[in-house]
Amino acid sequence: MEEVTYWKKEIETLSREKIEELQLQRFRERMQYVYERSPMYKRKYDEAGIKPSDIRTLDDIQHVPFTEKEELRESQAQHPPWGDFICIPPEEGVRVFQTTGTTGIPVKAILNKKDWAVHFYEQFMHFMYGYGIRVSDILFVPFGYSLYIAWWGFQAALEQAGVMIVPGGAQSSQDRVKNIFDWGATAVCGTPTYLLYLGETAKKIDLSLADSKVRIVVTAGEPGANVPSTKRTIEEIWGAKCYDDIGSTEISNFGFECVAQMGTHVIESMFYAECLDIESLKPVQSGEVGELVLSNLCTESMPLLRYRMKDLVRFDMETCKCGRTFLRLDGGILGRSDDMFQFAGVNIFPSAIENFIREVPEFSNEYQIVVPKIRTGKRLKIRVEPDTADISKDRMEQAVKRFVETFKYRITLTPDVEIVEIGELPRFELKAKRLIRET
Ligand SMILES: [Zn+2]
Repeated sequence: MEEVTYWKKEIETLSREKIEELQLQRFRERMQYVYERSPMYKRKYDEAGIKPSDIRTLDDIQHVPFTEKEELRESQAQHPPWGDFICIPPEEGVRVFQTTGTTGIPVKAILNKKDWAVHFYEQFMHFMYGYGIRVSDILFVPFGYSLYIAWWGFQAALEQAGVMIVPGGAQSSQDRVKNIFDWGATAVCGTPTYLLYLGETAKKIDLSLADSKVRIVVTAGEPGANVPSTKRTIEEIWGAKCYDDIGSTEISNFGFECVAQMGTHVIESMFYAECLDIESLKPVQSGEVGELVLSNLCTESMPLLRYRMKDLVRFDMETCKCGRTFLRLDGGILGRSDDMFQFAGVNIFPSAIENFIREVPEFSNEYQIVVPKIRTGKRLKIRVEPDTADISKDRMEQAVKRFVETFKYRITLTPDVEIVEIGELPRFELKAKRLIRET
């Protein structure tokens, strides 16, 4: 394990009792705050007949209504552009973002100066120290400046902390690879898919990223960082440690993996996290998979309470090897509850399939899962590419056979596997879309 560094050790190693005390106090304060400032929250809580003063224990939080992404969309449609859930006058905003819109109309987010310069900074300092990034590191950010939040908060916070930033937007992937070498970058961030793609790009120009000075890669935006075989592949390609970063435009940045690599810590001093059964929406038994529900405990501009992330997670409350007591998401984000699909009576998570695919060295890192319409009698189809052009047909057939056997054994279904030409499957710079449902 690399050397453990803390941002605020006294907070990160609080006893469970003290964390919960702090969370209860902060939740009550935030609930009072949104009740006074946000018409949407006042309406919700009045309708539910609940007041901030009703929250006396953490268990009482279960009576507080959820916040759904759809509500934020509706609120912004009715009261454009910001909706009536924000808690600041819009003119106080200094940074705006919007969600990528992969699941519907994008939601706009606003941050005032304190959220951007103080709260985001605090969140990303937990990340930075968790990953073991030092002020002497050089961070290459291979990402274009846009409305998407990805990496801009991370970049701004690390810059403020004294890390050198090499901006890698507005250039081709080949130029990015060259720049990673030229500028001596020691840390890089990106989606798992894109960091794998940079590995492929490097190969084309006869470079190996493992020969670069990069020692830490930070990945976000997809479950990949914590899919074991994807993480292993990224670490091999880059010759670096790969750490998970989790956040969302609406709720901000809540999860980081530490050097112990034992799951993704939630910053519990700034977020209250619940893991709920996807049907009953009651807390699951300890160690079971459920849906992540988060509450902002600190931010001012648009704190969300009991926000349904639609991410599936498993909590691990044991103190981590790094010494932090902040709970861990075992395996990071396991999948999206929206993405989970049922086929032939089996619940399937695309991230599980990804894990099998990336265990096969003959396959490239790109794939698609095609889910046929029900009652067509068709099988689930997995489309893959050979990793390199020199793999013989025979070897490819053997690889497919092995893959199908693994699949059958672990998912109890037999898929069809289609091998397509190298480069035929789409490449993604942002979030990858690999699940195709036939209609
Ligand atoms: Zn840890």
